Amino acid sequence: MVNLTYAPACNGASLPRFSDKVILPADILEQLVSARGLDLPHPLLFEARSGQARCFVGVKEFSSDEGEVQLPSLIADKLGLASGDTVAIEVCDDVPRGTKLSLRLTEIYPEIINWKWFLEANLSSYTTLTKGDILYIEKPHKVYELIVAETEPANSICLIDTDLDLDIQPLNDEMAREMARTSSEQNNQDPPLELQLGRSYTVKTNSTFHVLDADSFTPSITASLLVGDSADPSGFDLLVSTNKYVAKDSFIWSSIAGPKGSANYVTIDRASPLFGKTLFVLPVSWTGISSSFELRIGSSEQIMPTKSDNEIILSDQNIECSNCGATVAKNSLFLHQNFCFRNNIRCPKGCGKVFLKHVPESHWHCEDCNSYGDTPESFDIHQSLNHTEMSCEDCEEKPSFVNRIAYALHRATVCEGLLHECQFCHLELPRGKSTAEARLLSFSGHEFDCGSRTTECPKCDRITKLRELKSHLQLHDLERSHLPVPTVCSNVNCVRVSNGTNSPGLCDVCFGPSYAAVHDPDGKKLRSRLERRYVIQLTKGCGNSWCKNPECKSSGLQQYGSMKEVIEHVTRILSRSQEHLAFCVDESTTKKKLLVDFVMEDPGLKFAYEWVCKGVNEVDLNDSNESGRIAKLYSWLEDNAPELA
Ligand SMILES: [Zn+2]
Ligand SMILES: [Zn+2]
Ligand SMILES: [Zn+2]
Ligand SMILES: [Zn+2]
Ligand SMILES: [Zn+2]
Ligand SMILES: [Zn+2]
Ligand SMILES: [Zn+2]
Ligand SMILES: [Zn+2]
Repeated sequence: MVNLTYAPACNGASLPRFSDKVILPADILEQLVSARGLDLPHPLLFEARSGQARCFVGVKEFSSDEGEVQLPSLIADKLGLASGDTVAIEVCDDVPRGTKLSLRLTEIYPEIINWKWFLEANLSSYTTLTKGDILYIEKPHKVYELIVAETEPANSICLIDTDLDLDIQPLNDEMAREMARTSSEQNNQDPPLELQLGRSYTVKTNSTFHVLDADSFTPSITASLLVGDSADPSGFDLLVSTNKYVAKDSFIWSSIAGPKGSANYVTIDRASPLFGKTLFVLPVSWTGISSSFELRIGSSEQIMPTKSDNEIILSDQNIECSNCGATVAKNSLFLHQNFCFRNNIRCPKGCGKVFLKHVPESHWHCEDCNSYGDTPESFDIHQSLNHTEMSCEDCEEKPSFVNRIAYALHRATVCEGLLHECQFCHLELPRGKSTAEARLLSFSGHEFDCGSRTTECPKCDRITKLRELKSHLQLHDLERSHLPVPTVCSNVNCVRVSNGTNSPGLCDVCFGPSYAAVHDPDGKKLRSRLERRYVIQLTKGCGNSWCKNPECKSSGLQQYGSMKEVIEHVTRILSRSQEHLAFCVDESTTKKKLLVDFVMEDPGLKFAYEWVCKGVNEVDLNDSNESGRIAKLYSWLEDNAPELA
């Protein structure tokens, strides 16, 4: 035990008001090492006593003057100390690591939406808590007060390297009701927005994501969260994912690694293999304090500040001060620098920030990357997001990741615990552990197992695994694309599929009336029979009132008056290739032809005329109305006909 003198603030160094970390003289550490060796307890805790008052303290540094201790005012008040009083300090081994901490609110703080996050980000200035203490957390705009209601496993617990079970209690029933009301209000607030390119929105950092239909965006999308008047932009980020589970531990893109300033940006490249047509955007606060921000979405050019905004305008009259970088009039440079060199100091680590007199202790530069910031809290956030290893507990092999960014990418994409809708059972389930084979086939672990159930192929009745049905059906498609194109009767009024053995290419029904079992090596006799049949059709007609054949007198559409005109027309028709033959057909074929003509006018039709004709003969058209007949024909085509290339 040593007695030290309380020195409120020496050497201009300042301790935060609300902390339990003290500054001790260096010889205390030397004495400890010589008495106990280098194997000192971690963390190093001391009991500080003054009269009857006592409390536990941690150590910030061993740098005070010999015989003196510097205490945060919280500790000095607890011990009832005035400057120059004596404090007894003794190292202490028996404060256990905490397992449970219950805090009772003294008032409602509606801006704190997640106490766990808030405390994780802000408890680092304390090493111990004792039941009955008041826990003070100082933020730029207010001091939060909570009563330490319960601690486990002892009345005083150490907070370093612990995984605390944290519980926040209301002070009384009235506050409990108020908390329930505000939390349900908060849940109802801020419905998801449908974000649009080139617009800006006011958003809160909370658990609501916003949806961005990214389909029309080219080539890269930039979203920015304008931090505006926030004291500490490091506390806020934008997280983006391609699924609705976007959260602090599940995102693909984020503004975390980007520079922190008046706006935090996230840029999403459409060319990324992870890109999705729908993006889920979540503004978050790492400190647990909710705030409103302006959120802007646009192309990089629209959002990112252009150089000219920041360019310093130098002219003949102005010059840049080599110390602070300010633009000053040439003739006042001497005066300015006279002041500037005495009062302003530029950060020696090259961030460009200029401070009055000295670089404050709170200004930090990360040793592992080129980030920097201005509050201890932002340093903690930076470390925990960028340089703290994390492992995924939802994956069987508990893979570890270099930092939260890598961890969250895993959680948002391939994690065994990530929920997804199974394409076979259509339930929302975790993806499950996947094998190399499952990954190769682009199935989740669950889908690979779920798809092992069997089903009957609707085409060939073969028993197939669900997950193989798609590729099995593709085989049917492939087979189909090699099918020979059907031959359709050359009679323009007929849609029958023929085997095409006669020379005019007519189906058996259309050829029948012109068939004769006579020797006819050069086809002259057949031709004269066809001529005769055509002339009779044009002059006498087929006698059917429903005939729609324009080359038949019965249809009323025939337009050749004299026999001379008729003969000339028939000679012309038969001398050309047979594709203009127009013989009358029966009533059902007439209806089928009308249906084929109707379908062929569909500009989006993916099937050839010959397949439509085959379809119209395969489908039972009797028992349905017109739209039913069309639907039947289309569904036959989808199932049986190869699509046009
Ligand atoms: Zn200057
Ligand atoms: Zn700096
Ligand atoms: Zn860093
Ligand atoms: Zn995982
Ligand atoms: Zn399933
Ligand atoms: Zn099949
Ligand atoms: Zn025919
Ligand atoms: Zn006719």
